[in-house]
Amino acid sequence: MANNIPIGSPVRTRAIINRYFVKAKKNLGQNFLVDQAAILGIVESADIQPGDQVIEIGPGIGSLTEQLLLAGAKVFAYEVDDSLPEILHNELPKKIGDAPLDERFKLILKDVLKANFEEDLAGFFDMSKPIKVVANLPYYITTPIIFALAESDLHFASLTLMMQKEVAERLEAKPGNKEYGPLTISVQTEMNVKLALEVKSSSFMPRPKVDSAVVVLTPLAEKPAINDRKHFIWVVKMCFSQRRKTLNNNLKTLIPDNDQRAALIKELGVDPRVRPEDLTIEQFIKIASNIPAK
Ligand code: SAM
Repeated sequence: MANNIPIGSPVRTRAIINRYFVKAKKNLGQNFLVDQAAILGIVESADIQPGDQVIEIGPGIGSLTEQLLLAGAKVFAYEVDDSLPEILHNELPKKIGDAPLDERFKLILKDVLKANFEEDLAGFFDMSKPIKVVANLPYYITTPIIFALAESDLHFASLTLMMQKEVAERLEAKPGNKEYGPLTISVQTEMNVKLALEVKSSSFMPRPKVDSAVVVLTPLAEKPAINDRKHFIWVVKMCFSQRRKTLNNNLKTLIPDNDQRAALIKELGVDPRVRPEDLTIEQFIKIASNIPAK
């Protein structure tokens, strides 16, 4: 098949699937994008410019990778399926402009949750420059990946991530909303959250059971002052350990002394019966600063 047909078109994807006997692996969250408008929508949302350094998580058979490369990005990809490097090597364009593919694309067979970004990327990326992450995420590990990226020390320009719509709603939730929780707070203390695109399940092969959305996260110009992020996230998770219980009840493990707990709740200026989802990020920061690190 002529290689000027994009990998992400249904006809080319089907041809690749037949040629290499690809069976989408459910346990690896493989739902390949076969909607060129959605793929280009992701590239546009990420505002890819020539020379951008992009980490792609899970290139699959390369439908998004190809368009990132054609937009001028240098792409470093994490993949766990060892049948895919051969396909990517054969199907991605051999040359991007004047450059051979391997100058512009590098793949590492590694679980992204075990990534050591600094070590993996050194030699391929200029680590003094910001990095974009662009991915159609494997949905079975969306939340741990977002936590890992939010807590990483890499210098990100942006993260443009396709995920389940329900997770996208958790990322942009406000206090008082049932979607608001530790993931919201972990991300919103580091990043601006913008919902860029909604993508229907017919855009994938095979179709996922859930709706999807693309979210663009960009680092906050001014981050809230949090002394010890690990401790802060731990306290937030503890406060949400029983979401349906009151703040007072959730705080019992962290502050067993009744008077101390009452004093803190008073200082927060809230009713002891509020639920954790009603607290603002500033109030969680105050709680964390009153609880000694483990
Ligand atoms: N980017 C392709 C596309 O849009 O068509 C494929 C996206 S598919 C939703 C998710 C990809 O992530 C699959 O290729 C899968 O093998 C890969 N993947 C699954 N678990 C992974 C992990 N822990 N680390 C890196 N990649 C993973």
